[in-house]
Amino acid sequence: MTAFSLRDGVLHAESVPLESIAREFGTPCYVYSRAAIESAYREYADACDGREALVCYAVKANSNLAVLNLLARLGSGFDIVSGGELARVLAAGGLAENILFSGVGKTEAEMRQALEAGILCFNVESEGELDRLDIVATSMGKRAPISLRVNPDVDAHTHPYISTGLKENKFGIAYGDALRLYLKAAALPGLKVTGIDFHIGSQLTQIEPFLAALDKILEFVDRLKGDGVSLAHIDLGGGLGIRYQDEELPAVATYLHALLARLGTRRLKILLEPGRSLVGNAGLLLTRVEYLKHGEDKNFAIVDAAMNDLMRPALYQAWHDVVPVIPRAAAPQTYDVVGPVCESGDWLGRDRLLAIAPGDLLAIMSAGAYGMSMSSNYNSRPRAAEILVDGRQIHLVRPRESRESLFSGECVIP
Ligand SMILES: *Cc1c(COP(=O)(O)O)cnc(C)c1O
Repeated sequence: MTAFSLRDGVLHAESVPLESIAREFGTPCYVYSRAAIESAYREYADACDGREALVCYAVKANSNLAVLNLLARLGSGFDIVSGGELARVLAAGGLAENILFSGVGKTEAEMRQALEAGILCFNVESEGELDRLDIVATSMGKRAPISLRVNPDVDAHTHPYISTGLKENKFGIAYGDALRLYLKAAALPGLKVTGIDFHIGSQLTQIEPFLAALDKILEFVDRLKGDGVSLAHIDLGGGLGIRYQDEELPAVATYLHALLARLGTRRLKILLEPGRSLVGNAGLLLTRVEYLKHGEDKNFAIVDAAMNDLMRPALYQAWHDVVPVIPRAAAPQTYDVVGPVCESGDWLGRDRLLAIAPGDLLAIMSAGAYGMSMSSNYNSRPRAAEILVDGRQIHLVRPRESRESLFSGECVIP
């Protein structure tokens, strides 16, 4: 599914020229494709066909209400990491009974909120959390459904900031502690042990680390069963990568079939937590060139989007393709594409060959995941607008923030 393509010399989102979006809504803005999100979801759902399975979209990748609503309408569940995300999912029409709650720092208030709502499962990440959840649930006269996030200690071969399955990471419960904690949880009155989960990192491009992790987890599941604790579900996490540049990736079906084949005859419901692979390539960041600056060593294209809009390059040295919306025939020059923020880390692309002039529109590709959801108001920049394209239709699903909104909650003291 290619959501974005050149037609008659203009880059389009589905059937809409990006130029007309920029004219109507200004720049910078995020542009998402409904068809791309839906087809990515269907790839997951189809690959699970015939199994009892639930795809729980990782909300943090892109938490716009319209995106959540599209997925909810397709039957998606959701993986949340905060009370704020829980509120979003419910507001978007997601069902509480299809929500997983992940994250290492759940507060008491968040636990209460999720228990009131009646979520599917808490993915517990420490003994302290297990104890706290038991107390909170008991005080409410409820039993909290739980899974332990077990850390399989495998190397995901991805960027250290998005690798989560190694011993040294803050995530999950050490493999060696898991048995003791399952037996403890099974005996606590406020908890109901229902599953197990793992998530070893993000932007993984190979299947092998997933399989290595799953094998260790299944060995443990069998051991646990021998000790009298039977699980209803196994949650394989998320983490499958997308193509940003020239990465070679397994198809979703290839990845899932390989994992599902390892389950053998075990009768476990399958839960999945994909984020990036559902929305990453369904979005781009549209920006306009303000200035071209020719330095002694480097040329800079200064654009109106910045690290506060898309943090991934500054945070992970991530690559995003930078594509002119209306390509020019002129000879290209090499540019660093940078924003107006007062940080040397404020770049969106480095050493890119571009034939551009001030006023041109550029598309920063593959920005549908961890783009808007990681944005900030740094440098007092209003957050960008978000637009969802559906065929020929353009929906403004979040207007650009106003200047007033930047300090609307602030006050001065007498
Ligand atoms: C971030 C996260 C995901 C989603 O990861 P992707 O790489 O975007 O698929 C899934 N599960 C957990 C626990 C996460 O923290």
